[in-house]
Amino acid sequence: MSKSIFSYAAAARSVREYAASLRPARPESVPLLDSLDRTLAAPIVADRDQPPFARSTRDGFAVRSEDLDLLAPLTLVGRVRAGEAWSGPPLASGQAIEIMTGAPVPTGADCVLMVENVVTGASNIIPTRTLAPGDNIVPAAAEARAAATLIPPGTHIGPQHIALAAACGYATLSVFPRPRVAILSTGDELVPIHSQPLPFQIRNSNSYSLAAQITRYGGVPILRPAVPDSLDASEAAIRAALDCDLLILSGGVSMGKYDFVEQALANLNAKFSFTGARIQPGRPVVFGQLPLSISRQLPFFGLPGNPVSTLVTFTLFAAPLLAALAGETSLGPHFALARLQQPVDAKPNLTRFLPAHLESSIGGATIQLTPWQGSGDQSAAAKTNCFLVVPEGAALAAGDIVTALQL
Ligand code: AMP
Ligand code: MG
Repeated sequence: MSKSIFSYAAAARSVREYAASLRPARPESVPLLDSLDRTLAAPIVADRDQPPFARSTRDGFAVRSEDLDLLAPLTLVGRVRAGEAWSGPPLASGQAIEIMTGAPVPTGADCVLMVENVVTGASNIIPTRTLAPGDNIVPAAAEARAAATLIPPGTHIGPQHIALAAACGYATLSVFPRPRVAILSTGDELVPIHSQPLPFQIRNSNSYSLAAQITRYGGVPILRPAVPDSLDASEAAIRAALDCDLLILSGGVSMGKYDFVEQALANLNAKFSFTGARIQPGRPVVFGQLPLSISRQLPFFGLPGNPVSTLVTFTLFAAPLLAALAGETSLGPHFALARLQQPVDAKPNLTRFLPAHLESSIGGATIQLTPWQGSGDQSAAAKTNCFLVVPEGAALAAGDIVTALQL
């Protein structure tokens, strides 16, 4: 089989282009709180003007701004609280109405003087500053007009969206179904995690790291039994796993004598988008589609089996596709900027993703490399919260602002 080894950018583009060709799945309706971290399928629409009335943003006194210029006493004529409307006559010149945050501003008033800016008497107040019309008031409909789209479909739903949906009276939301992702880990050396490995065996941890990543990115993991390193077993396992929206294989994609995944996929008429990427870790990563029928195909990734490679290649390529299958418009991967703590040598023709720790504070973020023994080093991976991106051929210096791939 001929190999098509892409640069990181070309491989990422290939996944995005395939993602753009996907049709949205049929939405389902879920209770509002169950929509957290799902993808919105129908727009959230304002059921009325927001705010529905001119709202005071401060505790204080509703007044006329022109009256404040004199800094003379104003007569207190009443009080309006949040949850009620002023029922008296419109505010007249020389008057003030005590008002609470969130209360509707009475007609006639054009600003709200904060309680901190008055000297309060028994039946009057003396302002200690002037204001402009509109100060400390949000006008009716300033945030949104009734029937306006507030949140578009394709949004990953967070607490801020749930808040707005609740404000607009949504008890349920329309969301896209979670994609079902089958996991096939390959390797004769693998034993289930609850058994005691012989000295030359290892536990199948990749199925679990993948399941955790799939869950985090909005999918439903389907853990299949581990697959022995043979062409027949690989083909049979793939055939048995086709009932899903995305197939993820781990291991068996390198150039070793016992790496059969690519050949097994080819025997099942797979179309390969790329069969390697100039990245470290993760060079042998494979992306393609298996034909299911004339009109349906199943996207798959063959990820290298070394656990850090599996983590990185999932984050770079599988997570964005999973987000697209879940109907999201913002696919990732997600990067952050940080100040590098030590120099990194250049390497030609390889985009590197080195295990690192990012520490952020209000003043900015710093990133520190985590010492590691290569792509099999799970202990190092467990100390990281990101991967430092080292572009092809680039040397990085201490103090540089660099990019981190977020886990
Ligand atoms: P492979 O990509 O199949 O050549 O696997 C490379 C190495 O990754 C193997 O020698 C194992 O040490 C490790 N490995 C492969 N599959 C898994 C797995 N499912 N869980 C943990 N480690 C694995
Ligand atoms: Mg293997």
